[in-house]
Amino acid sequence: MDISNIRQLFPILDQKVYGKPLVYFDNAATTQKPQSVIDTLCRYYTTLNSNIHRGAHYLAAQATDEYEQTRRKVQAFINARHSREIVFTRGTTESINLVASSFAEQFIGNGDEVIVSAMEHHSNIVPWQLVCERKGARLRVIPFSDEGILDIKALEGLFNEHTRIVAVNHVSNTLGTVNPIAEIIEMAHSHNVPVLIDGAQAISHRKVDVQKLGCDFYCFSGHKMYGPMGVGVMYGREELLEQMPPYQGGGEMIKDVTFERTTYNELPFKFEAGTPAVGDVLGLSAAIDFINSIGIENIAAYEEELTEYATSQLLKIEGLRIFGTAPEKTSVISFLIGNAHPYDTGTLLDKLGIAVRTGHHCTQPIMDRYGIPGTVRASFAVYNTREEIDTLIAAINRIAPMLL
Ligand code: PMP
Repeated sequence: MDISNIRQLFPILDQKVYGKPLVYFDNAATTQKPQSVIDTLCRYYTTLNSNIHRGAHYLAAQATDEYEQTRRKVQAFINARHSREIVFTRGTTESINLVASSFAEQFIGNGDEVIVSAMEHHSNIVPWQLVCERKGARLRVIPFSDEGILDIKALEGLFNEHTRIVAVNHVSNTLGTVNPIAEIIEMAHSHNVPVLIDGAQAISHRKVDVQKLGCDFYCFSGHKMYGPMGVGVMYGREELLEQMPPYQGGGEMIKDVTFERTTYNELPFKFEAGTPAVGDVLGLSAAIDFINSIGIENIAAYEEELTEYATSQLLKIEGLRIFGTAPEKTSVISFLIGNAHPYDTGTLLDKLGIAVRTGHHCTQPIMDRYGIPGTVRASFAVYNTREEIDTLIAAINRIAPMLL
């Protein structure tokens, strides 16, 4: 794999900040976009813009065609059984809110229980808390170890006749842990409980096969997989989606509307009310092409190499602690230098041209678990290099004396 060729596809990387070459290590927050994705957005608004599905004219037909082709591309990408199981949303957050709200309406009642883990992003906690408040249900939480590994034995003990759904992430955005979701899904299904997987941090790093996994819902965002912001996916198993009520009312999601009674459209349109982000959906299609052109396994192997190298180099720095040391991780490294506040570390690194994220990363329960205010998080994508990691290490060695 020639990384310099790949880097050339990303125009944003070729710039200086504060006079220093940009080192972009904030990929878990959002990845940069290849030129093909940028061009697709430009092409859409330059030559194709129109509202889909309803139009009787050329542009609407073309746009609809490309939009629906993207649905089939996403279906193939995650190996869903049917394209009608792919619902376009604005992102992971909306996907989870859609499921929480609609699933709860049909399946969750007073005294029921929802299981999440202690390493969830807030967007896989708060929607369930809202549901619990509304329905008089209760949240149960899977704990994790110091290394950042979910306690699967504890999970087994959480199931009872009130359990209605398990919602866990595939990969933790703070710890990088790849969770044993196949095992979790099998366990939940043995209790007849469906499982939602928050795949926001997995989709650009691991092959996802929803049929093989057997998950009931899988949610992800376009912008974390080299695609545009404003588009995401909610995969749901047809049998469940058929039973769930619409999430939002509006255009496109109906079959017939009268003031007496409205009937709903078939899948997936029942869950796609209003005008979608058509250009962004087409951009997602280009992002999938980009990933496929390299191969997700090649991306994973290269990122693993980078992560191992960065971890070994970081651990040589005196007083540096890494949070999240599970054997199976993606390219996310959370750390603290001594007792320095993560924000101070991040600000100094920024002045040296290095973009990292600092804070609780929308995972406050993880910070509480470790008793820390936040971490510095470096996260890598396929266009990052060993040289950039060397730059990070040199920068930390330079700023450490100021922080400690
Ligand atoms: N879940 C996880 C694990 C995430 O990392 C993120 C994004 N930080 C989200 C959910 C939310 O994604 P989005 O902001 O794209 O909706």
